[in-house]
Amino acid sequence: MTKSAVDQWDAIVLGGGAAGLFCAGVAGQLGLKVLVLDHAQILGEKIRISGGGRCNFTNLHSSPHYFLSLNPNFAKSALARYSANDFINLVKRYQIAFHEKHQGQLFCDESAKDIIHLLVNECKQGKVRICHPVDIQSVSRTKDTWAVETSMGRQFGTALVLATGGLPVPAIGASAFSLEIAKQFDLAVTEIRPGLVPLSFTDDAFSSMSELSGLSLPVQISAGKKNSAYGSHLFNEDLLITHKGLSGPAVLQASNYWHEGESIQINWAYERDCHSEFLNEDNRLKVVEHHLAEMMPKKLADFFAAQLNFSGRKWTELAKKDRIALANLLNQWSVKPAGTLGWKKAEVMLGGVDTRELDSQSMMSKKHPNLYFIGECVDVTGHLGGHNFQWAWSSAYACARAMAS
Ligand SMILES: Cc1cc2nc3c(=O)[nH]c(=O)nc-3n(C[C@H](O)[C@H](O)[C@H](O)COP(=O)(O)OP(=O)(O)OC[C@H]3O[C@@H](n4cnc5c(N)ncnc54)[C@H](O)[C@@H]3O)c2cc1C
Repeated sequence: MTKSAVDQWDAIVLGGGAAGLFCAGVAGQLGLKVLVLDHAQILGEKIRISGGGRCNFTNLHSSPHYFLSLNPNFAKSALARYSANDFINLVKRYQIAFHEKHQGQLFCDESAKDIIHLLVNECKQGKVRICHPVDIQSVSRTKDTWAVETSMGRQFGTALVLATGGLPVPAIGASAFSLEIAKQFDLAVTEIRPGLVPLSFTDDAFSSMSELSGLSLPVQISAGKKNSAYGSHLFNEDLLITHKGLSGPAVLQASNYWHEGESIQINWAYERDCHSEFLNEDNRLKVVEHHLAEMMPKKLADFFAAQLNFSGRKWTELAKKDRIALANLLNQWSVKPAGTLGWKKAEVMLGGVDTRELDSQSMMSKKHPNLYFIGECVDVTGHLGGHNFQWAWSSAYACARAMAS
């Protein structure tokens, strides 16, 4: 990109991802002169790879209940002002075909590229200028104007919007830029860690389980401590055993609440009352692993029967305390993950710009007028299932409306 003349904008948006593009489009259509700068060669890469290429763009049930933040009330205002229904109506206007997959999750029928096209087109309608790849070198403030030093020259904006996302998937250009700018302007940033991420294991209990790699089944999973920052949560979702550890929606959800050193609890047969089934005399002639195979995949049934050396035995051959031990093992399996698979495999960043620094109606810094933070860089993280994009849309909309008012 060659250097261009110095220019003046009503708003400069740094980061042309989900939140940045949506904010720019809305602000442009409200009459602001908007510039979007992004360092990526290809725009919207994270959207393109989202939802397995079909972009789970929102969730019918999106509400503050599905978000983690040190201040659980912060997201309320933005989510109320721009809801899942608002974005669904926009998607319908573009005649993008979509379907509900599971628990209110809405996916494009065809491709996530449809959402990128929608965002870019909204920007076009707002006469937004999008420049990429552009190297953003520094940000400073002079009187009432924000100055951004870039590889295409210095740009001036009345408002500056930080929308460079979080740290997941560094290979497609994720960076800590927004967090660094927050710190530069003396804004607090909460502890960050990878979220919606598979968990890895090193202990012996798991080395035998890794032989079951590829197996997927519905479980009930819980993680977190009631008195910790984000509390604890229970999910009924599918779990996937991999050769490195545990993954699948159940584990990704639980990872948001898990902290290093803690155990997670899995109920492998949550739809069955194992205690009464194993003690029921009607079942006394059933072979343990055959009975377990009525509840779960056969390989896993064999695994659990072998764990307590009950393979090939009938219930009648086991003492009551042994039957209870097996019921407890299935209903309250507790395991301590060694860690997560990190930023490379995470879908979101937990933590970010401390919400106490921002006005929840506008996303504007309380200390610095006309400085805004939106999307994933803010300490608001959604559960799996379209809630993270909904936060991008809602926070972007709140910011755009505020800048235009
Ligand atoms: C594999 C994967 C699948 C996902 N699937 C879903 C899903 O189906 N549903 C859902 O709700 N959420 C999903 N997410 C999460 C979702 O993608 C994010 O929550 C969302 O993209 C955040 O929007 P954002 O605009 O804040 O950040 P981003 O969309 O990440 O955009 C940030 C932009 O800033 C640019 N940028 C970064 N650093 C700089 C810098 N230093 N200078 C200039 N530009 C910079 C980037 O190039 C990027 O374009 C998924 C995430 C991943 C990784």
